[in-house]
Amino acid sequence: MMRSFADALPPAPNPAFEPYKVKAVEPIRLTTPEERRDALERSGYNLFRIPADLVAIDLLTDSGVTAMSARQWGALLDGDEAYAGSRSFARFESVVRSITGMPHVIPTHQGRAAERLLFQVMLSPGETVPGNTHFDTTHANIEARGTTAIDLPSPATHDHAAEHPFKGDIDLEALEDLLTGDARVPLVIITVTNNSAGGQPVSMANLEAASALCHAHGVPLFLDGARFAENSWLIREREAEWHGRPPLEIARAMFDLADGCLVSAKKDGLVNIGGFLAVRDDAVAEDVRRLMVLGEGFPTYGGLAGRDLEAMASGLEEVLDPAYLADRINQVRTLGDTLTAAGVPIVRPPGGHAVYIDGRAFLPHLDPLDYPAQALSCALYLHAGVRSVEVGQLMNGRPGPGDVEVPVEHDLLRLAIPRRVYTSRQLGFVADALADLHRARAAIGPLEITDQPAALRHFGATLRPRVNARPERTSAAPSVSS
Ligand SMILES: *Cc1c(COP(=O)(O)O)cnc(C)c1O
Repeated sequence: MMRSFADALPPAPNPAFEPYKVKAVEPIRLTTPEERRDALERSGYNLFRIPADLVAIDLLTDSGVTAMSARQWGALLDGDEAYAGSRSFARFESVVRSITGMPHVIPTHQGRAAERLLFQVMLSPGETVPGNTHFDTTHANIEARGTTAIDLPSPATHDHAAEHPFKGDIDLEALEDLLTGDARVPLVIITVTNNSAGGQPVSMANLEAASALCHAHGVPLFLDGARFAENSWLIREREAEWHGRPPLEIARAMFDLADGCLVSAKKDGLVNIGGFLAVRDDAVAEDVRRLMVLGEGFPTYGGLAGRDLEAMASGLEEVLDPAYLADRINQVRTLGDTLTAAGVPIVRPPGGHAVYIDGRAFLPHLDPLDYPAQALSCALYLHAGVRSVEVGQLMNGRPGPGDVEVPVEHDLLRLAIPRRVYTSRQLGFVADALADLHRARAAIGPLEITDQPAALRHFGATLRPRVNARPERTSAAPSVSS
């Protein structure tokens, strides 16, 4: 009997590498430690003020920094720029309908434009809009209507170390209390994944229960779906009855529970600019379309070119590819687990798009008002040319009475991972740099603010290594951050 060819091989190896190859490259300019020290001082210890050319690995955000595929670049040329009835709109509409099941699809130039339009139509002064945790532009757009935005995050969110699988959930008891109370609630928004709470996923069970509660009270449920595909994948990995199911099926099941959605396509749309709004209600869609003329343009292009709609349509299809999502989530998890193994305190478990380091636990010798996460982000830039972002005291704190600040609840450093941009070797470099800093953490000193704008101070504030004694704090009680 003849043996067949190579029949005694071991099982095929697991293809645990990036499921794409590189077609165009962008060189990374390397800087010297002296250049970085100089840039840091000139920026006022604020990484938003550093030119991107002086950054080696940029983990400031995952928004609008995606690498597009060859298919998307090809689709740009195929874009139909007709003012009305564009073929590119028809394709975009059909892709969004197939993912969300919603009949009315309205493109916008980015997510916040969709928020502003929807809220102008649906919110009135004096009302309350609850959510798991509203993203900051969502919060601002709600409050701009004279409406109160309130966050009802799951109690599991508060313990950074706990390995809870769905820390992004909405607190159902608190939601029920609100819906049965006196507040007037025009809609509820659940953000998937919960960006402001560490990119943590929301479970299907939580969405089902929230949807049932909302509908029992006649209140529409909206999803803020900027990271709907990452949430779908985390449901598949962490919620038993969804194991192994196609991401499109899971995404559709999530949207089926909602009456509408707001989406920034700069995240899971895999494009550099774009967004959309989709709703079931004819009258809401009609009102939004009427309003669009004032800001976004004709309702079939929404502040975008036809080619942008093509790129978005392709991106929304590509993002649901299981090979893409498995690699994406694995990249974030591997960075998080490597840091945990090196003793770096992170928010566990790593979520969908970023790893968050606990600044106070990393630098326990600093006071919360020494801006520990900001100090760490500056040290990481100085040490390795890696840009991250502080989500903590600098971003969420305010000068209180007598110009004295009160510590906010969390002081985190976010490492946001752009989609399809960095290889695992580059992220390994980031992990090594942070492990170095953790061993040398005693060398990282306090910062103080020298100048701050009245609003959104983290974008424009300048800081310096603290030279004076810190002013005495009036209260040790942490205030609640947004
Ligand atoms: C980015 C984001 C938005 C706002 O979208 P833009 O495209 O930046 O205007 C809204 N919600 C969430 C959850 C986001 O991450």
